[in-house]
Amino acid sequence: MIGLTVLGSTGSIGISTLDVVARHPDSYRVVALTANRDVERLYQQCLKFQPRYAVMADADAALALEKRLRDGGESIRVLAGMDGLEHVASMDEAHYVMAAIVGAAGLLPTLAAARAGKRVLLANKEALVVSGALFMQAVEQGGAEILPIDSEHNAVFQCMPADFSRGLDQVGVSRILLTASGGPFRSLPLDQLRDVTPDQACAHPNWDMGRKISVDSATMMNKGLEVIEACWLFHTSPERIQVVLHPQSVIHSMVAYTDGSVLAQLGNPDMRTPIAHALAWPKRIDSGVAPLDLFEVARLDFTEPSFERFACLRLAYGAIETGGTCPAILNAANEVAVAAFLSQRLGFIQIPEVIESVLEALPVQQDADLDTLLAVDEAARRQAEQIIRSRV
Ligand code: NAD
Ligand code: MG
Repeated sequence: MIGLTVLGSTGSIGISTLDVVARHPDSYRVVALTANRDVERLYQQCLKFQPRYAVMADADAALALEKRLRDGGESIRVLAGMDGLEHVASMDEAHYVMAAIVGAAGLLPTLAAARAGKRVLLANKEALVVSGALFMQAVEQGGAEILPIDSEHNAVFQCMPADFSRGLDQVGVSRILLTASGGPFRSLPLDQLRDVTPDQACAHPNWDMGRKISVDSATMMNKGLEVIEACWLFHTSPERIQVVLHPQSVIHSMVAYTDGSVLAQLGNPDMRTPIAHALAWPKRIDSGVAPLDLFEVARLDFTEPSFERFACLRLAYGAIETGGTCPAILNAANEVAVAAFLSQRLGFIQIPEVIESVLEALPVQQDADLDTLLAVDEAARRQAEQIIRSRV
């Protein structure tokens, strides 16, 4: 039996993970579930999966969950806060850790899992964007195994030769082609972008996801974060990564080889496929995803994204080229701007404007340690808040 901790179990990826795990009760045992403050959903998940630990990031929510479980006669241990999250990410009985907290909030527990040498099923791309060099170092030193959950990176992983960590040139890979749907506003006239609402931004044409990543998909910051994520995961640089708009979301990404071959991974847009792949790798297991019907898909389209429409993509390419703490600044400013858009304090087209202002205002440091990264994250958030307040 493989012991699994699910960080962020009440979110979109967490729920899909538990759906796959429930199909294989003889292979995986859930040892810990965690959430921010959704007591009711975590309680229901606890009843069904009977983990040893349940962690709530929010202390009041932890007390409420503890009471709920005790009243129900359950003996599941409840922990609170970052210490609790780090504990269940690194404890012995967790062989695999699904890192599915959204945002930089997932950084410390995901790092803890890497240091402890777990198989890390990595959905939390922001953790890697903020701390790429440190994170990859922790993976190496801890002897961890990273299996990408992001559908694009999971696809690239599947299309890569097994020894890709030797370097892409050494294994004959010339480019990574990251596909992107372009989100709900792919072809909306530019002058109408100004008026789009949070609900419109979260109505993704192909994928059903959490609200933050849905907005990131609409601005294409999601693809920008994924370019940065791919640089770290596949030991390469941004000029080797090409973003391809592919509105059907059937090809999840591709790898181009020096001999002209291009390998692609295809499937229905359902996160249970990469989750099942990462859980079972190198084996294959049932994920519950319907087989791909190519006659129904009928056609596959590809176009080049425009930096004018998707300024966030340009900013992300710039951030990884600058390196150092620049991606951490980009990520923090984006998290604040997206939260402000979702609470209707900021317009959609102002999201990249706020991020660009924060990038211009803050200095970039190379070779930052963890404390520096956390301080930079804080400072970028404060700066973004200040810019947003001054605009209203
Ligand atoms: P979500 O908002 O649906 O869920 C987020 C989870 O994190 C919840 O369980 C929530 O309780 C927890 N959480 C939120 N803030 C927290 C905090 N401060 N401390 C501790 N826990 C906290 O998000 P999601 O769509 O499931 O995305 C999760 C991660 O996976 C993100 O990094 C996202 O980019 C990535 N991802 C998601 C998808 C998708 O299809 N949803 C696809 C690819 C990658
Ligand atoms: Mg993705």
